[in-house]
Amino acid sequence: MIKNRNLVFLGAPGAGKGTLAQMLCQEMKLAHISTGDILRNEIKNGTDLGKKANSYVTSGGLVPDDLVADMVGKRLLEKDCQNGFVLDGFPRTVNQADLLEKVLVKIGKKIEKVVYFEANEELLIKRLTARLLCKKCNTNFNTIFSPPIKKGICDKCGIELYQRPDDSLETAKDRLKIYNVQTAPLVPYYKKKNLLSVINAELSKEKSYPELIKVLS
Ligand code: AMP
Repeated sequence: MIKNRNLVFLGAPGAGKGTLAQMLCQEMKLAHISTGDILRNEIKNGTDLGKKANSYVTSGGLVPDDLVADMVGKRLLEKDCQNGFVLDGFPRTVNQADLLEKVLVKIGKKIEKVVYFEANEELLIKRLTARLLCKKCNTNFNTIFSPPIKKGICDKCGIELYQRPDDSLETAKDRLKIYNVQTAPLVPYYKKKNLLSVINAELSKEKSYPELIKVLS
């Protein structure tokens, strides 16, 4: 069992936040709140929010803070968050972190731990550009590090895998630049609040998962 259950996963794109969040949420029955997944769904469904977010997501830029904070605020009210949650990809700016704090005060919750996934940029680029996702269950594969059993097909669903358009080399590089400028300041921000734990995200998921459990216990 883990002690901390209201969590933020912080780290650059490609650090493995989504993969470990999926594993942890399944085992510990936590709600996995990936703002990237929610936004891609909204875009796919052509909702108002999806229309507003589309150009930012496609180009690898950040969707405006108030839109994402509002979206997360609503999601946190859902029943499955009562047992704990992992915020994966949110907050991504100091302003979003301040907005999150306000939302949490309103609903009487607080963040218990922020896990920082540390990895070098060369590896991040390699992981991002080789990443494939299942159209149905969102499981991540990687043509270099964790290929599917059958090329281009999800091991779990038997459905075709796809590459995210923003995982192209050029856009991946842009996303890392944005991360360094806008999101990296959240590391000292949460350190100051005594909430930060660091894990080595250069390891395989099988090796970094026990590290994650250790820092949450
Ligand atoms: P991700 O799946 O976390 O890599 O996110 C994919 C894209 O969704 C990002 O490149 C942004 O365009 C958008 N996005 C996801 N989370 C946020 C956020 N917290 N703030 C702004 N934009 C976001």
